[in-house]
Amino acid sequence: MTSPLSAVIVDMDGTLLDLHFDDQVWNHALPRRLAARSGMPHAEARAHVAQTIAREQGSLRWYCLEHWSRVFDTPLHEVEAEQAALIRMRPGTADFLAHVRQRAIPLILATNAHPRSLQLKLARTGMAPYFTALRSSHEYGSPKEQAAFWDALHADLGFDPAHTLFVDDNLSVLRAARDWGISENYGVLQPSSSGTRREYPDFPAINGLDELNQRCQQAR
Ligand SMILES: [Mg+2]
Repeated sequence: MTSPLSAVIVDMDGTLLDLHFDDQVWNHALPRRLAARSGMPHAEARAHVAQTIAREQGSLRWYCLEHWSRVFDTPLHEVEAEQAALIRMRPGTADFLAHVRQRAIPLILATNAHPRSLQLKLARTGMAPYFTALRSSHEYGSPKEQAAFWDALHADLGFDPAHTLFVDDNLSVLRAARDWGISENYGVLQPSSSGTRREYPDFPAINGLDELNQRCQQAR
């Protein structure tokens, strides 16, 4: 696999960035707020949040800060801003971004994160200049789990899927990308520094993005 690449597409949360931040927001900071307000035990608030959001998993709503701000009657962007010190790149990310940019391969950030979360994370990490394009699936109205997202991204940015490399930490997303036609798809073994390892039964997987530096040598 040494053919030149038309584009490299990377997910943000759990791929470029440590998923520890999102884990803290949804499993700790938000339940803490709800528990403080209602008087329910923290563990109960945590279960309530987990059960409520699980009903929307895989849909665009699951990723929508405004939707959850309404459901939990709590400004989620405020909760995220409070935890912003935890936003950080995963080991190998900075090296990979510099490498791909230096080789002039089109580098696309494609995330299901809400545009407001995307802005917060770009502001904290300063990584925006490395990308030729930054897209939230909210702009297209379909999450990455659906072919409609890939149709829209392709129509928007015009890469050659047969010579495109994609990295994500979500198995459903990787399958959607492959089924749509992306040729090289990689999973991320440990998206959160404080979480467990994930398995990708039908994809190669990496620890850090810098493991792909050698693959990303040349633009097509
Ligand atoms: Mg992710």
